[in-house]
Amino acid sequence: MPERPDLEYVVPILNAELVGRRISGVRVKKPVVLRVAVPGSPETLLVGETFTAVTRRAHFVCFALQGPHNVEMIVSPMLAGRFALADAKSRAPGDLAVAVALADGRELRSRDDVQMGKVYVIAAGARQQVPGLATIGIDVLDDRAFTRAAFRALAQRRRDQVKIFLMDKSALDALGNAYADEVLWEARLHPKRMVRSLSDDELDRLHDAIVTVLRHAGEVVAARRPPLDEKVRDFLNVRGRAGQPCPRCGATLRTARVHADDAHFCPQCQPDERKRVFVDWRKVGEGKPS
Ligand SMILES: [Zn+2]
Repeated sequence: MPERPDLEYVVPILNAELVGRRISGVRVKKPVVLRVAVPGSPETLLVGETFTAVTRRAHFVCFALQGPHNVEMIVSPMLAGRFALADAKSRAPGDLAVAVALADGRELRSRDDVQMGKVYVIAAGARQQVPGLATIGIDVLDDRAFTRAAFRALAQRRRDQVKIFLMDKSALDALGNAYADEVLWEARLHPKRMVRSLSDDELDRLHDAIVTVLRHAGEVVAARRPPLDEKVRDFLNVRGRAGQPCPRCGATLRTARVHADDAHFCPQCQPDERKRVFVDWRKVGEGKPS
């Protein structure tokens, strides 16, 4: 899925290209992705509207519009959603889900080859109509908000596994599957550790890893300048590399099931603490029959 570093590259480009442009047409190729929360069709609601801003919230892309219908468009790319800006006359890709035509002859294409993403049209500001959009957690790249203390306080309330916690957008803005794995590798923590088993030192390490990994990824993606519809992932250390050697210790990287997702990790750098057998040697031998 496009994650925060991908979207932080794409969204400013969309903002620069789209703001001030008027929508002249809408083509819906894959109706299954569409969620229209106000009366009307996408065509009647969007045509005539002008883009005023494109912003990111967690893994959502929000297109603010100005015009007679007082609506906004929100795209949740989920697993495989991606954007492209193309000449409206050019051949549309097979995975085109929705195309929004601009008065200048181009179109904004929302592509999705697994059709798990969503394109919402909602009344402007009615963000509670989009599941997950109204409650988004701390911006992890905001130094003032995302302190070690704030992270520890957040972790204290958790009763889940650390990878699930990292991917919870209502807690943290925002990590998905790939970068959660990268962060856990950086912090040397097993993806299935329970959050409440983490020491303060481990939480600090995790906090710092979140910032380091996302900042670095943002820099790499920005430097590579990929086309809008491509995501750069070849620099990742563990994600997508199961079976290959760990770049840090050489052990073979593995996968583990964490709820519905696969986690990729290094069994040596990220030992599974749950399997450690604790033997209290002071009590061994004291067990006299009573
Ligand atoms: Zn390793």
